[in-house]
Amino acid sequence: MAYFSQHVMSDLPLSIRRVIELFERLPGIGPKSAARLAFYLLVTPTGFVDNFAQTLVTMKSTIKKCRQCHGVAEGELCEICSSPERNKRLICVVERPLDVLAFERAGGFGGVYHVLGGVINPLDHVSPDDLTINALIDRIGQMQASGEGVIELVMATNPTMEGESTALYIKRQVESLNVKNLKITRIGSGLPMGADVEYADQATLSRAMEGRREL
Ligand SMILES: [Zn+2]
Repeated sequence: MAYFSQHVMSDLPLSIRRVIELFERLPGIGPKSAARLAFYLLVTPTGFVDNFAQTLVTMKSTIKKCRQCHGVAEGELCEICSSPERNKRLICVVERPLDVLAFERAGGFGGVYHVLGGVINPLDHVSPDDLTINALIDRIGQMQASGEGVIELVMATNPTMEGESTALYIKRQVESLNVKNLKITRIGSGLPMGADVEYADQATLSRAMEGRREL
């Protein structure tokens, strides 16, 4: 239901209406919040609004996909992939860039990531080719060829039907590479079925990572 009746909305100046409509398109923002944000910006000093707009544009133009893990990066490689502190032979496979952030916030994981870009979902027409699964297979193959093969692949897709079947699909693909001494694990049962890694609290995520078992 619209917060403003059609009548009240059309009484507002067009440029305010446009801002409200844009905010409404953001996730988690309803019509009431959208209106509150628009009016807040209206009375905020121009310098703040300029900075706000410019910061968004800069983010869009400078952030790229990390060449290695497909997470967010400012250069070719993200901070995690380029860090000498991280164990490159331990790869945690997640659905979205925000899941990386969730695990990093929970702490305790010293490996690197691979961001799939979603899960296989025939109903939504998402096939393995729409995800970065082939890139992951190539990555594992190249590491094996270099003599520094992956020792553990942690499947950390969400505990949903699609997340589970995507994890199993990847397991089968990776197994066909016949990498010696590679363990494929699944994050533990701390996360309830249907949960979302992105929204899980830090303690639950660390428990899930510690409690991972062979898939
Ligand atoms: Zn990376």
